[in-house]
Amino acid sequence: METPKQEPLLRELKNYLIHLKDVGYTEIPCEAELFANVQQRAAQPFQSPNEMAKSLTAVQKELGDCTRCKLSETRKNIVFGSGNPKADLVFVGEGPGADEDEQGFPFVGRAGKKLTEIIEKGMGLNREKDTYICNIVKCRPPGNRDPEAEEIAACNPFLIQQLQAIKPKVIVALGKPASSTLLGRTVPIVKERGTWHEYAGIKLMLTLHPSYLIRFYTLENRKAVHEDMKKVLKELAR
Ligand code: URA
Repeated sequence: METPKQEPLLRELKNYLIHLKDVGYTEIPCEAELFANVQQRAAQPFQSPNEMAKSLTAVQKELGDCTRCKLSETRKNIVFGSGNPKADLVFVGEGPGADEDEQGFPFVGRAGKKLTEIIEKGMGLNREKDTYICNIVKCRPPGNRDPEAEEIAACNPFLIQQLQAIKPKVIVALGKPASSTLLGRTVPIVKERGTWHEYAGIKLMLTLHPSYLIRFYTLENRKAVHEDMKKVLKELAR
């Protein structure tokens, strides 16, 4: 017998399974170890005495023509990040798709259009001037599959250094893999979106990924992201 409480859970499960099928999965991935290897930064503030922040350019130079994981074998371009290196607001996504891989910039495809719309129409900000955008992995996972644990772990030091270089007021994690990577645990995103967390002393908001929003374009999901971004604007204005 179905109880009212099961309904949202089943809906979420169904949506997630459809999403996995859409991005090319033919079996259920096991996530237990996925975020276990990432260096835990959520609780440690940046800038301990022996930790000088590098500039973004220096971080990118250190990344170089990276071959630290197998994504380097299939990528066309490394997608390091784009926007204002001094932005108060950083969006962290999952990983480049086909368009991003082709052009070398994050969020330039369909999900990027949606993200730009959220930033510019929804929040009244300028994407290039007011934000910096990057991903948890800098190279495209083949077929847009989710990045694997080793790939996330190999790229994580660069994400940490990017955030350390920018030191924004607010970080927004877009979707489950970004939220889980930054918090070092598997995050049930539909449940935890809209909640504040901390990453190395920086305010961290979790929200739905623009691709999820496109796939499940419901009033409920649009309202949810709108509410989350209102909280971010309020925090930026403090
Ligand atoms: N999705 C992401 O998570 N990142 C991109 O750069 C593009 C699409």
